[in-house]
Amino acid sequence: MGEIVTFRNGHRQYSYEDHSGERYGRLTVLKRIRVEGRQQYDWLCRCDCGNETVAQTGGLLRGSTRSCGCLAKDVGALRKTHGLTGSRTYISWRAMRARCLNPQDKDYPRYGGRDIKICERWGSFENFLADLGERPEGKSLDRIDCNGNYESGNVRWADDKTQSNNRRSSRYLTHDGKTLSIAEWAREAGIPTGTFWRRLKAGHSLEDSLRDKRRARVNS
Ligand SMILES: [Zn+2]
Repeated sequence: MGEIVTFRNGHRQYSYEDHSGERYGRLTVLKRIRVEGRQQYDWLCRCDCGNETVAQTGGLLRGSTRSCGCLAKDVGALRKTHGLTGSRTYISWRAMRARCLNPQDKDYPRYGGRDIKICERWGSFENFLADLGERPEGKSLDRIDCNGNYESGNVRWADDKTQSNNRRSSRYLTHDGKTLSIAEWAREAGIPTGTFWRRLKAGHSLEDSLRDKRRARVNS
């Protein structure tokens, strides 16, 4: 959500949401501009490919405008060169869907079974590819917040080292008959996951590691 900017013009007061600095697909919003002949204001954006382009608010927010036009070209080229369904990226997409949606999948209990969801947009492989790009060699699909969903902003292509650092917070601990991940325990106690994790690694009990919120804040 951008900041709401309010201004006066004569006696009337106007307001708009400022999307400057936000990212939509490959686009980073630079500033709000008025294009001649348009009733509404639009947004000057820089695309990851280096081009500048003007995008309309609706297109950005709906997710239909995600590049200067280079994205559609890239996806088109990809489809021509390997055929989408044979690619590494397609294999990742299909595995993600199996983990979350197919109760027969071996990983389903840790994903779909824990209510990890896939955003509606990524029901389409082409959208998934458009948002994340092709999977680089040696990398795999990684959620930044292990308890979060598969959706834009929470997913990246990461190497195995990043993944194992991240996976620590999805380890499960049971206490008082309740089973939560490390990240969930930390959130519940109001302390940073890293702090909680360091205490556990230093040999403190789960109970001790969750206690003393104030000290946790000072340390973090
Ligand atoms: Zn571009």
